[in-house]
Amino acid sequence: MSERGPRSHMVEHDLAPRGITDERVLTAMASVPREDFVPPEQVDSAYEDHPLAIGQGQTISQPYMVALMAQLADVRPGHTVLELGTGSGYGAAVLSQLAGHVITIERLPELAEQAARRLAGYPNVEVRVGDGSLGCADEAPFDAIVVTAAASEVPAQLTDQLAEGGHLVIPVGRDRSVQQLLRIDKRDGELHEHAMGAVAFVPLVTDQP
Ligand code: SAH
Repeated sequence: MSERGPRSHMVEHDLAPRGITDERVLTAMASVPREDFVPPEQVDSAYEDHPLAIGQGQTISQPYMVALMAQLADVRPGHTVLELGTGSGYGAAVLSQLAGHVITIERLPELAEQAARRLAGYPNVEVRVGDGSLGCADEAPFDAIVVTAAASEVPAQLTDQLAEGGHLVIPVGRDRSVQQLLRIDKRDGELHEHAMGAVAFVPLVTDQP
């Protein structure tokens, strides 16, 4: 453990050496207390670089994955960001350090309520309850959309809701063992897709027919 505490240790050992190079992302990761977003019995594990159970069969993502998604989304001050899958609220808290405004949607009301309480000190984050698989048309377009649950394919509504120059970061794959993290950029109205590696997320559950 470094003398400067577990968050600095996480940044220096789990993030910076593994390709998280965006200084703003590293600063955000160094400033958001992950222990505030995990259940009391997990506080001692808050800075271990793996997902943790947060109840209702859901997980708080591994710090490296939160940082990687934030870096790929290239969030800048003043940007409006949509996160789908609030979970613990930790990812939204990290994005709030980088963006102007964050809207995060969670389909499980209990998790959304708990996250909203934890995020009370983050005034630029708005938590909504509902099925986020179709995005959030009333607040579009978004400079970045970060999806923290795996879709079987990229919903067209999400690319439609992306601003020019914006990025959609989304795990895609039907089976948990064959998901790819995709970054889709909208440039001159066209979509450019990049595969960023294999990942394992809980499924994006849609209430759509
Ligand atoms: N970003 C979270 C990790 C969330 S895990 C964090 O930092 O803790 C993925 C979350 O997506 C789960 O809480 C799950 O309930 C939620 N989810 C799954 N399908 C969804 C949907 N269609 N709309 C909104 N949230 C969804």
